[in-house]
Amino acid sequence: MTRGRVLVTGGAGYIGSHTCKALARAGIEPVVYDDLSNGHAEAVRWGPLIQGDVRDRDRLAGAMSSHAVSGVIHFAGLIEVGRSMHRPDLYWDHNVNGVAAVLSAMRSADVGRLIFSSTAAVYGTPAGLSALSETDVLNPINPYGDSKLAGEKMIAASCVAFGLEAVALRYFNASGADPEGELGEAHDPETHLIPLAIEAALTGSRPLTVFGQDFPTTDGSCVRDYIHVADLARAHVLALGLDTISRGFEAMNLGRGRGTSVLDVIEAVGRACGRPPAYAVGPRRAGDPPILVADPARAMKRLNWAPEFADFQAIVDTAVAWRRSRRFDASTPLPAAA
Ligand code: UDP
Repeated sequence: MTRGRVLVTGGAGYIGSHTCKALARAGIEPVVYDDLSNGHAEAVRWGPLIQGDVRDRDRLAGAMSSHAVSGVIHFAGLIEVGRSMHRPDLYWDHNVNGVAAVLSAMRSADVGRLIFSSTAAVYGTPAGLSALSETDVLNPINPYGDSKLAGEKMIAASCVAFGLEAVALRYFNASGADPEGELGEAHDPETHLIPLAIEAALTGSRPLTVFGQDFPTTDGSCVRDYIHVADLARAHVLALGLDTISRGFEAMNLGRGRGTSVLDVIEAVGRACGRPPAYAVGPRRAGDPPILVADPARAMKRLNWAPEFADFQAIVDTAVAWRRSRRFDASTPLPAAA
């Protein structure tokens, strides 16, 4: 039995596809809207796929009306901090105009609830070393974070202006793969730490570069809060079903509340793969704050949610398992001997 339909922009991507699986499990049909520039058609399995640009307001409104969706989860957008420093124009275009088009389409198709993919990058460089809560200062230090914060502000204003209800979920570092092995992380080109470290360990093809070891952290490398993608996915389904959204708009951090350094990641990947990835220490990547760790208390309370993957090694193990049996990816397959 289905409990309605939801439009999922970017539903063919990494977090989007895991969320579609979680929606289907909850009896909600995901209608994926994706231009497949980064997503994979093979990852769309639980509902229809509409190919379209997220800035195309009319096509979005048509998809919302023709599938009679009751809500929208908006993932589609550009996500790389490093690239955003070199192409801020693209980030403002896709991420800000994308939100504007989604909001305008929702208004004309009379769809009242939105869950928005936001990010820890909205906080910028935290002043202290303690975990970040939603009331901390929002001061992004890269165009990716700027564009996501602009999206949040546009959404919050729309909640006041035309009665929309919305939740912005601020992800820390999405990681891992579907525990059942159906989905995983496959960007092309890949820029994320965990898949690159796995690739380096399993194929030895390209040594990993650690972006800076001169940060004010215990081992000098950047510290991030890695959260399993299936835990993120579940949080979206719960946010969609919230009875009331306080003042129409709420922002919530999604993380485990624990910091893991780049060198810790390399060690965990080495354990999961049975051999360590080769790496060299390089310069810092522009736009990277030293530490980003969530205080996820608000999401835990409001969504009655807690990460099921509390242990970092278990998260990495799911990513390695998926890479070993990879179902879809544009890049080179593993050599037979690996
Ligand atoms: N990182 C790294 N080498 C890489 C890719 C990433 O040292 O090849 C570091 C990066 O500086 C950051 C962390 O790993 O501190 C996570 O980066 P990623 O790009 O995976 O996610 P982001 O935090 O940018 O969303």
